[in-house]
Amino acid sequence: MSRWHVFGVRPGGACPTLLPAFEEPTLLVFPATAEGEALCGAIAAASGAAMLGRIASLAREGHALVASRTTHGGRIAVRLRVAEGLAVAVVNDMPDLDGAIALGAPAEPAPERIARADQRVALESARIVLGGGRGLDEAGFALLERIAEALGGAVGASLPAVDLGLAPVSQQVGQSGKFVTPALYFAVGMSGTPQHLAGIGSATRLIALNSDPAAAIFRVAEAGAAADARTLLPLVLRAVEAGLAA
Ligand SMILES: Cc1cc2nc3c(=O)[nH]c(=O)nc-3n(C[C@H](O)[C@H](O)[C@H](O)COP(=O)(O)OP(=O)(O)OC[C@H]3O[C@@H](n4cnc5c(N)ncnc54)[C@H](O)[C@@H]3O)c2cc1C
Repeated sequence: MSRWHVFGVRPGGACPTLLPAFEEPTLLVFPATAEGEALCGAIAAASGAAMLGRIASLAREGHALVASRTTHGGRIAVRLRVAEGLAVAVVNDMPDLDGAIALGAPAEPAPERIARADQRVALESARIVLGGGRGLDEAGFALLERIAEALGGAVGASLPAVDLGLAPVSQQVGQSGKFVTPALYFAVGMSGTPQHLAGIGSATRLIALNSDPAAAIFRVAEAGAAADARTLLPLVLRAVEAGLAA
């Protein structure tokens, strides 16, 4: 029987009540939100806990805990075995309550199969790329597709947007995604993390749209608008279409 304790923890939730359990091997699972990931990383950095990342399933293996996850934007499946101590992880589908989580049946993560021609213009060779981030929803990505189509460009995405199912992994730009070198990259609803910017060539001109005027993306963008994408993207589409019709 495993000695492991597995707890779901929400930022602002019942974390202190879990502390006595840390004497035994313990996994803390956080929701895969910006807040959850930040808390997970902070706890790992402060305590030396094993960081399992965004896991897909958990299982017992003797006295060890085995987590499965994918890396490199879903291309590689890995199994992480932890024997003891404190470990932290995030999950997309967080159980409703703070507290003990029953270990589920082992499930192997399936790397995403990528269709060859899933975009009209290949992301790697596009002159214009519209990159969508976690700040967009499905309607936002649909607008990006329409603007890209009108401009003969391609749509890219941040890792969280891919994880949320807003774009296929073949469109992920960044450290663990694709490297793109368009003339223009329009970053929409993304904060501007080093992991994303690592996927954009240094000669690319960057413009940004983000509702947060303090977003880091504005420090690297040549131009930008601090506005809600839900308001501005329809106007951009209209302007592009009007420009093409003129
Ligand atoms: C080893 C490793 C590899 C990684 N590889 C990659 C990678 O290849 N690619 C990648 O992208 N990330 C990668 N990441 C993840 C990276 O650290 C960030 O989590 C990610 O880049 C953040 O994506 P985001 O900007 O879409 O989301 P967030 O950082 O959550 O930013 C969302 C932004 O949207 C804005 N916003 C919200 N609502 C609106 C709205 N209505 N209108 C306009 N703006 C809005 C917010 O102000 C915020 O700035 C990696 C991380 C690790 C640890």
